[in-house]
This record gives sequence, C-alpha cells and structure tokens, in this order.
Amino acid sequence: MYLATPTWTSAPARADHPNEDAVRVGPGWAVVIDGAGVEARYRVGCHHSVAWYSHHLADALARRFTDRATEPRDALAGAIGEVRGLHAVHGLQAGECDFVGGSPSATVAAFRVVPADQPTVVETLVLCDAAVLLLHRDGSALELTDRRIEATVTLVAEHRRALRTQGADEAAVFEQGRAVAEGLRNHPDGFWVAREDPAVARHALVTRTDLADLRAVVACSDGITRAHESLGLHTPASLAEALAWTPLDEVVAAIRAAEAQVPHPAGKRHDDATAAVLVYEPPHQPPTAHIGPPMVGKRADSSRPVVDSSLSVFESDQRPGRRSG
Ligand SMILES: [Zn+2]
Repeated sequence: MYLATPTWTSAPARADHPNEDAVRVGPGWAVVIDGAGVEARYRVGCHHSVAWYSHHLADALARRFTDRATEPRDALAGAIGEVRGLHAVHGLQAGECDFVGGSPSATVAAFRVVPADQPTVVETLVLCDAAVLLLHRDGSALELTDRRIEATVTLVAEHRRALRTQGADEAAVFEQGRAVAEGLRNHPDGFWVAREDPAVARHALVTRTDLADLRAVVACSDGITRAHESLGLHTPASLAEALAWTPLDEVVAAIRAAEAQVPHPAGKRHDDATAAVLVYEPPHQPPTAHIGPPMVGKRADSSRPVVDSSLSVFESDQRPGRRSG
C-alpha cells in the first residue's frame, strides 16, 4: 500500500497581500488552485475576493477528488457548483452575487493515485495554465497544461497591434485589448478557467499514467512553472527534479531571486508560487526466480499517459509557444 502525502509549498507573491493560490494534500493526492487575476472591474457583481474563491474551490474539489469513484472532471464540476452556491449564501444583503457582472476565476492542477488501497496509476486533471509535471524514471518529464490561454494572449497582442496601426491612443488600445481578453474567457474561441459555470470542467485536461514509470508527480501554479516558461532557470525536467529532491523553499527562493533580476517584467514581477510534490517509491518486490525460456518481447509503452482530451500535451523538449518576457 502506498499512500504517502505530498510535500508542498505555497508562497504569496508579496508578504502584504493574501495568497490567491490554495493547496490541499492528503494520502496519494494533491489539489492546487491558482486564483486568477480577473480585474476588479470585471467582477463587480461578486462580493468575494480572489483568495476566497480559490480557497473555497480547493476545499470543495479536495472533498470530491479524494473519492476515487468520482471521475476527475465530475469532481471539478461538483466543486465549481458548490462554490457557486456559496456566493449566494455569503453575498451582501444575503443576495446572490451577480455573475453577469463577473466573479473571480481560478486555474486548477490536481493528481491522485488510484486505486487508493493498492495504487497502480496516477490520474491528473488540469484546467488552464496551472500544470502537472510527470517525472519519468528515465529522467524525462512531461508537462500537462492547457496552452489555449497562450493563444488568447497572442490574439490580444495582435488586436492591440492592429489598433495602434490604425492610430488608436494607448488608453483605447489597452481597454479594447482587455475587452477582447474578457470575451474569450470561457469561450470556445478562447480558453477555459474555473468560475461560476460547472460545465467548464468538461474542458479540463485529464490523463492516466502507470505509477511504475514515474519517479515523481508535481501539481503547481504558474508561479512555479515560470521557472522554465520565462525565467530560464529550468527545463520542465530539471524543475520537476528540483521540486522532487531539494527543499521546496529553496526552489521558490531561486525563482524569487531570478524574478528580482528581470529588468522589465512583462507581467507581474512576482506571482504566488505553489507546488505539491509526490515522490514515488515503488513497493519492494522480492526477486522471483524465473524458470523457462528467456522472457523477450516488446514492452508495452506504458510510460506515456493516456490523454482523455483533444488538447495538446507537450514533451519537455518539444514545446512550442514559449512565452517570452
Ligand atoms: Zn461572490
């Protein structure tokens, strides 16, 4: 039986600001939620903070995700629905929050070993740009994340460029870019993120991988993956190894030090950084004597996850669309 509890870290971007990341762990599972920075004016109808949303979603998802009989996407849909209900209970005047006016959103990364009593497989779930890193026994890593938000960022940049070409002033360029980005959130032409609609859960990327092929599994927010996305500190494989074998505080400290060196950050200089890490030690098998002809044959390639989604999964060394700056 293997039911170790992942180690974890969750460091706010700034000491004087609430941590909008949330992490929950238990025997053989982890849930990481990254409260997404929807601008305040795009969530005027909701009286709740981003941190309120991410932490309640983490609790609601953890309760469902630990039940291995519940499919990962169903667990996420149930969790989003539960938190939607909480908006009503705690709204001002006991009234419901106005989702038309917008509400906080969040990205999700989670994993669990199954079955719980004698695990052989790790199941993962990712929504938007949070990530799960699978570190294989051969040292390679696979990053599971949804790149559709990057396509949206590119689209918005192109839109702004076109407006500038037409002579629009910078304020208009900024505003219209924002409006385009908002219109693409939870839209088939854009990207999917947890908000008030449980149906977005069906767009989550889910995979299953044989545990025997893995050394470690990591669920993390994009405050961690920026180490290889934009800071040049790591590849996905070296990041997964660092998270697995060095104290998590040291990994985050290295990210903070690298962030401090960026002269003109394109986005936030620092971001909330959260990771939950399960290092897998296979159960000890006593050697068994083999009697008979030598065992030859092609080993089934079980090291690659079965991806139940139309989404792309990027190998660590073949990943296009690296974000710059
Ligand atoms: Zn609300």
